[in-house]
Amino acid sequence: MNRHDKIKKLTTEAFDVLIIGGGITGAGIALDAASRGLKTALLEKHDFAFGTSSRSTKLIHGGLRYLKQLEFGLVKEVGSERAVVHRLAPHLVIPEKMLLPLYEKRGMGSMLTSLGLKLYDWLAGVKLEDQRKMLTRSQTLQHEPLLNPSDIKGGAIYAEYRTDDARLTIEIVKTAQQHGATVLNYAQVESFDYQDGVLTGVQAIDHLSGKQFRAKAEVIVNAAGPWVDQIRDLDQSKQGKTLHLTKGVHVVIDREKLPIKQAIYFDVGDGRMIFAIPRHQTTYVGTTDTTYTGNLDEVITTPADVDYLLKAVNQTFVGIHLTAGDVVSSWAGLRPLIHEEGKSESELSRKDELFEAHSGLISIAGGKLTGYRKMAQRVVDRIVERNFDSRALKLCTTDSILLSGNSFHSYQDVVKFTKAVEEDLRFRGLSNYAGYLVATYGAQVTDVLRHLASRNEPSEVVSLALAELSFCVEREMVIMPSDFLVRRTGMLYFDMPRLLLVKDAVIQELERVLGVSLTDEREQLEKLIAQAKVFGF
Ligand code: FAD
Repeated sequence: MNRHDKIKKLTTEAFDVLIIGGGITGAGIALDAASRGLKTALLEKHDFAFGTSSRSTKLIHGGLRYLKQLEFGLVKEVGSERAVVHRLAPHLVIPEKMLLPLYEKRGMGSMLTSLGLKLYDWLAGVKLEDQRKMLTRSQTLQHEPLLNPSDIKGGAIYAEYRTDDARLTIEIVKTAQQHGATVLNYAQVESFDYQDGVLTGVQAIDHLSGKQFRAKAEVIVNAAGPWVDQIRDLDQSKQGKTLHLTKGVHVVIDREKLPIKQAIYFDVGDGRMIFAIPRHQTTYVGTTDTTYTGNLDEVITTPADVDYLLKAVNQTFVGIHLTAGDVVSSWAGLRPLIHEEGKSESELSRKDELFEAHSGLISIAGGKLTGYRKMAQRVVDRIVERNFDSRALKLCTTDSILLSGNSFHSYQDVVKFTKAVEEDLRFRGLSNYAGYLVATYGAQVTDVLRHLASRNEPSEVVSLALAELSFCVEREMVIMPSDFLVRRTGMLYFDMPRLLLVKDAVIQELERVLGVSLTDEREQLEKLIAQAKVFGF
C-alpha cells in the first residue's frame, strides 16, 4: 500500500546492501543484513517466492539422501538448522515423522539404513525421544497399510519438519522489513551502474507503473536462484562455475484417492526416491529431477512428469490405480545447482556456493530452503569483512529473531491457539479452517478474524477468503490475484475447490481496493489453473 514511498526511498537514499531476488535466499540475507544494522534493500521482479521458493517439496529436512553422497557437512548443517527454524516459526515449521519402507529387492538393507539414520540423527543433534526407530515388517505395514506387502521387509521412522515454503519466505521478508529493510516486489533489476569498473547501483523497472528507476548501494548481492547466471551475464562476470538447472515436479491428488496415513519417503525402481505427503484434504507426491533448459519464468508440469510420478505411486501402494485425471493440481520448480562435469542430475551437490566478481557483485547459488539462515550468515559475514567496519555493526542474531506471526513459546502453544481459533470460528461454520489459518498466519490469525468480523458475504467461505485478502493486501504486499491464491494461501495447490469458489470475489475485491482493472490477470489465473491441472496443452 506504500509502494510509492518505497520507490521514493529507493531512488533518493543510498543503501549499504541491495539484494536481487525475493526467494528464501534473498529474504534470509535481507533479514540478516538489516538486523546487523546495514541499510538494506531487496528487489524482486515477480512476487516474493515466485521462483523455486514456492515450488519445493516443502520440507525442512536434513536431506537423508546426501548421506549416500557422503556430504556429511551439508547434512550436519541443514539437519541442525531444522530445530532452529522450527523455534523461529513453530506454527509454520511443523514436526512430521517420515516413514522409510525397506524392500526385499531394491533400496538399502536394514543394517545400513539403521546405521545411516543413527548417523543422520547424531549429525543433526536430534533429541533422544525423536531419534529414528527401526520397524519390523508388520509394524511398517501397520504404519502404512497401503504399502504393497509382497516386497516389504521392514522400515524406519525418523524425524523431519514440514512447512509452506512461500509463507516461510514471506514471513522472513516481513521480518526483514520490521528490521528496517526496504523490500519491493514487481521490481526487476535490468542493468547495473559502475564507477571505475566497480558496481555502484542498479537500474530497475517497476512493473506496475512501467517506470524505470535507479537505486544506489555499496554492495550488490545476486540471490536470483535459477536466474543467478542471467544476472552474472548482465554484469559480464559469468566465468568459471555455472548453474545446472534441474526441474522437479510435484502432483497433488485428492486424499481419498491416495489415503496414506502419514508422510512416506520411498524407493522407486530407477534408484531414485520420492516423497508422498498428506496435507489437508490432499496428498502430494514428488519429485522428478531432470535437466532443464527452457523458459525460467514459466516452468510447467508435462504429461511425462505426471506419468513418471503416478507410475511410481501405483507400483508402491496396493489398490491404487491413479490416472492423469486424478491430478487436481501440480507445480514445477527449478533447482539452481552448480554444474559438475560428468555428474547426473541426482548426483549434483545441493551445497551452496559464493561467487565474487571483479565488479564487486556477490552471487550465491545452490543450497536448500532449510539452510537459508546459514547461507545468509555466510554472505553477510563476507560483505561485512570486505566492505564495512564490523565494530560498528551487530553480530548475526538470526537464530533468535522470531519470524512475524510467531508469538508462541512452543508447539503446544500453537496447538492450544488452534483450538481457541476453532471455537471462535464455530458460530460461522468455519471451524474446520482453524488448522489451515494458524499454519498459514500464526498469531496474525487474530488480524484476519478482525477483518472477518466485518464481512458478510452470502457464502462464509468467501467471507473468510476476503478477510484473508484484506490482511494480505494490508500487510503482505499482495497485488496480483496469484500472489494471494498461490503464494499467500497455497489454494492453487491444496484447495482447488475453494479457489474455484472464491476466485471471482477475490479479483473483484482486488480491483476495488487497488483501483485497477485486472482483466489480463484474470486470464493469467485461468492459465495457471489449467497448467496446474496439466490440461493446459
Ligand atoms: P528462488 O526462490 O528462485 O528466488 C530467486 C528470485 O529471484 C525469484 O523470485 C526471481 O523472480 C527473482 N529474480 C530473478 N531475476 C531477477 C531480477 N532481474 N530482478 C529482481 N528479481 C529477480 N529445499 C529444502 O530445504 N527442502 C525441500 O523440501 C526442498 N525441495 C525442493 C524440491 C524441488 C523440486 C526444488 C526445485 C527445490 C527444492 N529445495 C528444497 C531447494 C529449495 O527450494 C531452493 O534451494 C530454494 O528455494 C532456492 O531459493 P532462492 O531464493 O535461491 O531462489
